[in-house]
Amino acid sequence: MEDVGLVDSPSRFLTDKLGSDEISKYVSFEELNEYERWWVESGESMSETIDRAKTPWLKMFDERGRRVDEVQYPSEYRNLLYEGYKRGIIDKVFEINSVKPFYFLLYITTYFDAGLGCPYTVTLSTAIPIYKYADEKLKVELLPLLRRRGYDVWQGATWMTEIKGGSDLGYAVETVARERDGKWYLTGDKYFSSNVGAEVAVVAARPEGAPRDVRGLSLFLVKKWRNNGELNYFVRRLKNKIGTRSVPTGEVELRDSEAYLLGKREWGIYEILDVLNSSRVSNIFGSVAVVQRAISLAKKFAQSRFAFGRKIIEHPLMKRQFENRLKELRKCFNIARDALYLYDEVWKEIPPFSDKFNLFRIVSHISKWHTAEVAIQTSKWAMEVWGGLGILEEFPVERLFRESIILSIWEGTPHRQMLDGLETMVKKRAHDLLFDYMEEKYKGDEFRAKRLRELKDFTERFLDLPEEKKEENVDELFLKLASLWGE
Ligand SMILES: Cc1cc2nc3c(=O)[nH]c(=O)nc-3n(C[C@H](O)[C@H](O)[C@H](O)COP(=O)(O)OP(=O)(O)OC[C@H]3O[C@@H](n4cnc5c(N)ncnc54)[C@H](O)[C@@H]3O)c2cc1C
Repeated sequence: MEDVGLVDSPSRFLTDKLGSDEISKYVSFEELNEYERWWVESGESMSETIDRAKTPWLKMFDERGRRVDEVQYPSEYRNLLYEGYKRGIIDKVFEINSVKPFYFLLYITTYFDAGLGCPYTVTLSTAIPIYKYADEKLKVELLPLLRRRGYDVWQGATWMTEIKGGSDLGYAVETVARERDGKWYLTGDKYFSSNVGAEVAVVAARPEGAPRDVRGLSLFLVKKWRNNGELNYFVRRLKNKIGTRSVPTGEVELRDSEAYLLGKREWGIYEILDVLNSSRVSNIFGSVAVVQRAISLAKKFAQSRFAFGRKIIEHPLMKRQFENRLKELRKCFNIARDALYLYDEVWKEIPPFSDKFNLFRIVSHISKWHTAEVAIQTSKWAMEVWGGLGILEEFPVERLFRESIILSIWEGTPHRQMLDGLETMVKKRAHDLLFDYMEEKYKGDEFRAKRLRELKDFTERFLDLPEEKKEENVDELFLKLASLWGE
């Protein structure tokens, strides 16, 4: 079984799939390997402690009764969290001028702890809009803080979702932005706020009087502390979650919070979607890492468990399933690589976006949806391979399954990925770009070229359907797109 020897090591898998020459342009194999070793020797046990400790504790008041809203974790958390920043997971992006090193390091992180990918991701998803949309003064002040490689690094966060829902932000966002004396102030409640406690966050809000739809949204920056040193946002409570406990998710209250408008007021929805782009690529890489980890854990068990006179991995059905899972891992990795390489070409763009950006968008929707589904299915399968032991909290597949569930929900649910993807096809004909891209890839491969022609015909017929019919059956189209691409 090709790749079976590689699944136990994320750094070796990455290097094998991308080539050491390619990887070393962004991060050396030694750095990746050393980070992996740190995880095996120290990180994994810290991560286990954090997960078992369940929801962290929120200390809301100090001894004088003042609001402090501090998230309290077991002491290991600090070491676990800051390891990635110390290794330059954010800094390298701006040092090398490429997002690739971030995602390579993130792959190692999420292989061991899918939840820990979140603080790094939302910090990058804050740094990028600051880099692209903030005025020069704010940029010069904040970017160096977010790029720090020590315990004094500033973390970011991305808060859009409110109690009325995360999919239809145009309808659900009720946070109001008011302008006074040339400064902005936000008032409202954010219902799902990951990496709560972050020093700075990008926040969706509606300027007073703006339309009550997506066009009325703008993107703002909110710091943790006001200019006078008081708290600028409050944490109402923390969420009890099934997994991803190595990132605190809370509810945030904005009360006349000092804010800074990012980019142009009317660009809000484009900027919000842009924030989601970097997070989606993280979700894609995180999902592939979960697939790899699940296969590794399943292999470890199947190689030592006996039934009917042989190791269970040697039984024909199990063997074939391993082969299929490895094939799926390779395919998901190819999809993730394509998404990342495209993103690396467009991440600095601002509206109006190019054709290449639209190609990236359709690619990111298909890959986010597909890789998350595969991650959840594969971690469930790994549990089955472990049989009854897989359900027990004392073994690692139970946790992996809990961690994987969120992958299909945050950064947009499967419905949203498909419907937003469909929109880029209908409005921007993004599929033409995707098919050109695939055609180039499959040059000389008559079998795939024929399948591509069939897919093109199917897509054109599909897009001729009435609106409601297209929406109703969009999952059929997405399945076909994902099944050819990545092979
Ligand atoms: C652990 C965790 C951390 C999170 N962290 C953050 C964060 O830091 N920042 C942030 O902004 N958000 C965060 N979220 C919120 C997350 O992004 C939302 O949960 C997600 O976008 C879905 O929104 P919702 O839960 O309100 O579901 P809803 O939007 O209410 O959707 C409910 C269901 O309806 C479906 N649906 C919606 N529209 C359609 C349609 N047109 N056709 C068919 N089906 C449709 C959805 O796909 C979903 O299945 C977090 C969520 C979780 C669970």
